[in-house]
Amino acid sequence: MRISKLLEKRVGVMFYALAVVLLAVVVSVRIPSLRKTQNTPHRNGRCINNLRIIDSAKEQWAQQNKKGATDKVALRDLAPFCKDGVIPSCPLGGIYAVTVVSANPTCTIPGHSL
Ligand SMILES: [Zn+2]
Repeated sequence: MRISKLLEKRVGVMFYALAVVLLAVVVSVRIPSLRKTQNTPHRNGRCINNLRIIDSAKEQWAQQNKKGATDKVALRDLAPFCKDGVIPSCPLGGIYAVTVVSANPTCTIPGHSL
């Protein structure tokens, strides 16, 4: 009787340990997949499209203001060249930046780039 109770207790502990391990595995698998659903190709594509719009606005601004490749540019300069005078924003909340005319606009979210 005593041996079977001890065995029963061990099986219980092992079952509990197995449940904890399984939970840890499920959580570790689910968390990266949740991140993936937030950073979907669709949203990346929308951001990249926004970067193209900003790049096009930058080219128009440079042409209209007779700026060269090394001239500095600011996002606020580009608003008049965007639809409704509004610079598009990243669908995931990234921050856009422009530096000089020859450089591509950038987003702070990894994978969002031209
Ligand atoms: Zn972005």
